[in-house]
Amino acid sequence: MPSFKRSLSDRKKKHIAVCPICQHPLKKEIEEDYLHCVPFRHIRKVYGIHSDRIIISHARFFGLEEKRNRDFFYWQFIENVDFEKEFVLNTL
Ligand SMILES: [Zn+2]
Repeated sequence: MPSFKRSLSDRKKKHIAVCPICQHPLKKEIEEDYLHCVPFRHIRKVYGIHSDRIIISHARFFGLEEKRNRDFFYWQFIENVDFEKEFVLNTL
């Protein structure tokens, strides 16, 4: 989309040039995980991102911080600990 590229500010161009997430083929998935508050350590491992700093600077640049939905992650977390619930119930 050349017209879109031309309208990018220099700041944005610079960010994209150095940002591994912007250049990542799974950029959308990374952003979605970030927005769903998946832990950074997990994002780094799954997508091969080298440091938290990269995730933070990408998120800041695109204003993703305010859009994070912590509830989503906690619900996923709660759904995944069923076996522990069972364990607790069985030991009571
Ligand atoms: Zn970026």
